[in-house]
Amino acid sequence: MSHTYEAMWEKLNLDLDAHAGLLQVLGKFYGDIYLSQTGRLRGMEYLDFVLSEVHGLRIKELQDAKAQGRKVIGTFCVFVPEEIVLAADAIQVGLCAGAEIGKDAAEKILPRNTCALIKSFVGFKLSRLCPYLESCDLVVGETTCDGKKKAYEIFVDYAPLYVMEIPQMKNACDRDLWRGEVIRFKEKIEELTGNTIAAAKLSQSIRVVNDRRRALQRLNRLRAAVPAPISGRDVLLVNQISFYDDPVRFTENIHKLCDEIEERVNAKQGIAPEGTPRLMLSGCPMAVPNWKLPFVVESSGAVIVGEESCIGTRNTRDLVDENGPSFEAMIDALADRYMRIDCACFTPNAERLDNVVSMAKELQVNGVIHYGLSFCHPYAIEAFKVDKALKEAGVPMLSIETDYSMEDVEQLKTRVEAFVEMIR
Ligand code: SF4
Ligand code: SF4
Repeated sequence: MSHTYEAMWEKLNLDLDAHAGLLQVLGKFYGDIYLSQTGRLRGMEYLDFVLSEVHGLRIKELQDAKAQGRKVIGTFCVFVPEEIVLAADAIQVGLCAGAEIGKDAAEKILPRNTCALIKSFVGFKLSRLCPYLESCDLVVGETTCDGKKKAYEIFVDYAPLYVMEIPQMKNACDRDLWRGEVIRFKEKIEELTGNTIAAAKLSQSIRVVNDRRRALQRLNRLRAAVPAPISGRDVLLVNQISFYDDPVRFTENIHKLCDEIEERVNAKQGIAPEGTPRLMLSGCPMAVPNWKLPFVVESSGAVIVGEESCIGTRNTRDLVDENGPSFEAMIDALADRYMRIDCACFTPNAERLDNVVSMAKELQVNGVIHYGLSFCHPYAIEAFKVDKALKEAGVPMLSIETDYSMEDVEQLKTRVEAFVEMIR
């Protein structure tokens, strides 16, 4: 990444030396894990470019938008309705929280046995490493798992924070609570931006976000072909970038990528030969630059053909109904769509079991790797029921718990290779 952005980073009060270290690690990782792949699609060049400018051009775009009076909203969870943010002419960015680099700082104020994702976002803030976080006019938290909601009580002293209440069950009263939260969020965003959200703007933003979901759904349908036309690593990257790129530009480029994949599928060409074991990942989200497990899997003789995850199909599976005839009906449609998210923070969470099994069947996988971040209780405990449901469907599962450190790569490789060998 060019040093022409240094003045911008300095203005954002980043720790320039530590930030340079982060970019160096990111570049090395990306080279080893992504650019070393052979037979990549031309369309991935757009994604390579966006990633190479992740702290450069995109941040400049955010700063330019802010100079014109637009607000930037940062999020950590797929529950935050981007449609509301876009309808108020603001910009939403997913705050990645996928790197270990601020861990030491985070452990000074959080227990060591906190999940890596929480430590990462707190560590990034304390270490002044993330230009997205520093660009935010508002950071939106949510009451999902206990770790996150208690960490926000500390985080609020460091960043402008707003917390949405997410219900824990899916009864009628929970849906009412959530609808009320969508309205409270709308009012907060209107107050922050000074823009009143009109029905026409909301209808338009529902279409923009749905269009992005439709592009990602198309990608997921195409990648399900046999042989798999694109690597799991590349699709994970596409999903990761969907959280911070401009939604309209991103959607256009993903359709171009899909056109190219369609040609590959028609020609029966694969990124890995037919007969390569097909695996699906299921569980916790993998935020940039958390590419460890996909890299381990795809260098162990298997190909990943699906991610049942928030940086995957949990974020793209459901659309918001676009036919709401009034503002109130659109709010209902938003509340209903987001209530369908099958996060392990819900109890009971039977939809997830159904979704995992049907996805495994549709993708014709030979096995599932359940991925849990160490100390994430919701997903670790739910892994038992996921395993049981998959067993009943005749699909083997391997459960892996890890964090962002690279120390266990060899150990993971041994376990994944043994699993691949077993299902081959
Ligand atoms: S796993 Fe749950 S808490 Fe995490 S991003 Fe997804 S919905 Fe939010
Ligand atoms: S990975 Fe688990 S523990 Fe960590 S923030 Fe998400 S739900 Fe919470």
